Amino acid sequence: MEHLLSVDQLDRDDVEHLLAVARAAEPVARRRKVCRALEGAVLGNLFFEASTRTRMSFAAAFCRLGGSVCDTTGFTFSSMAKGESIHDTSRVISGYVDALVVRHPELGAVAQFAQATNIPVVNGGDGPGEHPSQALLDIYTIGKEFERLGKSIDGAHVALIGDLKHGRTVHSLIRLLSLYRDLRFTLIAPPGLEMPSELCEAVGARGHHLEMRQILRQPLEGLDVAYATRIQRERLIDETVEGYTPELRVDHAFLDACCGTDTALMHPLPRDSTPGANDLSTDLDKDPRLAIFRQSDSGVAVRMAIFATLLGVEQQLQGPLRDVTWRSPRRIGPDDAAFYTLDSIVCP
Ligand code: ASP
Repeated sequence: MEHLLSVDQLDRDDVEHLLAVARAAEPVARRRKVCRALEGAVLGNLFFEASTRTRMSFAAAFCRLGGSVCDTTGFTFSSMAKGESIHDTSRVISGYVDALVVRHPELGAVAQFAQATNIPVVNGGDGPGEHPSQALLDIYTIGKEFERLGKSIDGAHVALIGDLKHGRTVHSLIRLLSLYRDLRFTLIAPPGLEMPSELCEAVGARGHHLEMRQILRQPLEGLDVAYATRIQRERLIDETVEGYTPELRVDHAFLDACCGTDTALMHPLPRDSTPGANDLSTDLDKDPRLAIFRQSDSGVAVRMAIFATLLGVEQQLQGPLRDVTWRSPRRIGPDDAAFYTLDSIVCP
């Protein structure tokens, strides 16, 4: 793998390899071991669109591998504001750093960065296009939730809920999940925000079963994962969203009435907490089925795996690695589930 631009580059073996490397990275990502595999290497983090999780977890992943990070955010303070092309920006920065993570509001723009350089480029989100590292961490999280519950991804029932038209995370996730076998997808979106038909056709052609709905509050039999997304307001151009009502809010009442006792509840985050947003409700925060923070935490190990693979240092994660010397809490968040502690992992 030269760059990571789209999940379409990956087959199931590639995914499983990356996820195995992420597992090996867990003791470092979860602050139990120290790794210096990328000591001396520098990452260029170029974010031309809003980001908290992706930008910071890529940076944290590179630092936890022993590297350091240079970054730029937004167009205003970059030479693109002076008319510089993607080609020139990419080539210039490639003279300074060893890998690039790029987020850009235009579909295909990150691939243009990759064309102008021989250093690895990772797509951190290209407009409504793709978000491959998010899909990998989503599958990693599903795998970990299922392992605890004794389930397998093959044959799972997954509901994708919300803005399925503009949400790049669900575009990448459904493609990547389609590499597994016999999945059942329930796609729940308000009118006008449905999953693009070409994606549904591609997934259906791989033998999976898809059902489209506009109503959330109906039983979802045998549901293993409910994956909610926010309305991507920044991508709505002259579009009004009809039917995005409180009935589409994923809350405790929905989970109890329509899902199962072991349904994992996921969201790529951020959840939109502004009044009237109807996004994932905070009334679920103490429910152990809420996997959103376990999911965002997984971002560091998975992004370490991406860098380690692209830069050829995966073996160094196998150890021996030295212990950390500082103190950290047993549980990261006060509402974290009882089974989820920083040391509930096996160090190699
Ligand atoms: N953080 C994700 C993304 O950048 C999801 C979102 O913004 O809704 O696509």
